[in-house]
Amino acid sequence: MGRCLTADRLARRGLDHPECCPFCDQHDEDFNHILVQCVIAWEVWFNVLRRVGLQHLSPDRHDKLTAWRRRSLQQVQREKRKGLNTLIIFWSLWKHRNRCVFDKAQPSPAFILRDIAEQASLWKMAGAAKLQLLG
Ligand SMILES: [Zn+2]
Repeated sequence: MGRCLTADRLARRGLDHPECCPFCDQHDEDFNHILVQCVIAWEVWFNVLRRVGLQHLSPDRHDKLTAWRRRSLQQVQREKRKGLNTLIIFWSLWKHRNRCVFDKAQPSPAFILRDIAEQASLWKMAGAAKLQLLG
């Protein structure tokens, strides 16, 4: 929805913001970078997609989130689509970004992948049957 308070949005409002991406420390932080284009995000997406043989759908460094998501979902069989069309991965990336910014945590794709598996497990226990893809 474009409402995440990434560095670019904080800067436009005149608020304190990270100088660079808190994951890679090499690029400006914006919505597309932190959730799709960053090397950390890419590693997370690649590992999640590899579990279901869809690693070829991993984003590249120039993909914009909305276009990549739409393009990827169009290439996935209907029964896998719902499992991948979840916000758990985005949410886990965003939570870890916030841990890096506010708690000075070290960027860790392994940590994010464990969080995704834990969140998917909780959602599956609550009845979200299509999330078997995530862990
Ligand atoms: Zn980055």
